[in-house]
Amino acid sequence: MRKLIDKLAKKHSLCRSEYLEIIKNATCADAAYLAALARAEKEKHYGKEVFIRGLIEVSNICKNDCYYCGIRKSNQNCERYRLAEEEILECCNAGYELGFRTFVLQGGEDAYFTDERLCSIVSKIKEAHSDCAVTLSLGERTFESYKRLYDAGADRYLLRHETATKTHYEKLHPENLSWDKRMECLENLRKIGYQVGCGFMVGSPYQSVEMLADELVFIEKFKPDMCGIGPFIPHKDTEFSGFCAGSATLTCMLLSMIRLIHPTVLLPATTALGTVSDDGRERGILSGANVVMPNLSPVSVRKKYMLYDNKLSSGAESAEELDKLKQKLAAIGCTVTANRGDVKR
Ligand code: SAH
Repeated sequence: MRKLIDKLAKKHSLCRSEYLEIIKNATCADAAYLAALARAEKEKHYGKEVFIRGLIEVSNICKNDCYYCGIRKSNQNCERYRLAEEEILECCNAGYELGFRTFVLQGGEDAYFTDERLCSIVSKIKEAHSDCAVTLSLGERTFESYKRLYDAGADRYLLRHETATKTHYEKLHPENLSWDKRMECLENLRKIGYQVGCGFMVGSPYQSVEMLADELVFIEKFKPDMCGIGPFIPHKDTEFSGFCAGSATLTCMLLSMIRLIHPTVLLPATTALGTVSDDGRERGILSGANVVMPNLSPVSVRKKYMLYDNKLSSGAESAEELDKLKQKLAAIGCTVTANRGDVKR
């Protein structure tokens, strides 16, 4: 096992059966070894700095019905909201004062957010804060739409592929959503010039260890600029309510492996990881992650963007309490940086 891990650290590449071997058979001590190598690799490129992103959840209105997601169209218990342009700009202003230099606009696929409206929002953010990056995470759109948003000033786009296995994708989504289309969107984003983020859930329903090995093969091939992975967490109003949450330990080991596969990737310690484990955020950082995304949405809507049960939005997860996050990170030897935190290519 140590030989295999050393090989990964040296070559940044393994074959599927070798990834599978690690995923299936690594002990706690092996995982700690992977984490130490991943931390060293991260520090080589990004030092001990952790990048922060202000996450603004612009709408929980969504036309899709992803089986795992709490804001899916058919969830009648979800109290819907969308932010007005003015509110989004106010969030950015507040975030700027707090020290954020990246704003992430995430939301459901809400038809209200036409290209025109979004381009106006993006260009106004860039006008007001020319030293900031804008990241969008608004689901699938056409090539032309992605291009217009890019031309309006958007720098990055997060679109998790959710699973690298097409048949698995079909178990997590209704028929009108297609894995090929999702992958095509990722290719389009890259073609246009965005810094592109993909990602997947760990422990989602019907996921096997073989599929996790395929995730790593996919990451090795696609080489995303960012990669968001977090444990699946059930939501009470979805048909996956009866499934177990994914494991923080496995998520952390996969974070370490992804860091070693793709040393310069921007890797968040996600809110989902912080939700399944009290010290999940810190464990993620210690496993090789280097990004955290505190919540910068208006406090009045935070409880409404419930992708899964008990999603954190307070304490160190909240942008206003950045000091708490800084203290937690300082305790593990990391500092928060105020620069944009672009990917090193
Ligand atoms: N509509 C956007 C944003 C989706 S929400 C898009 O399609 O990209 C952001 C991410 O939350 C999703 O990509 C998914 O991976 C994650 N997510 C949704 N439901 C979840 C759940 N129950 N547990 C863990 N993560 C979840």
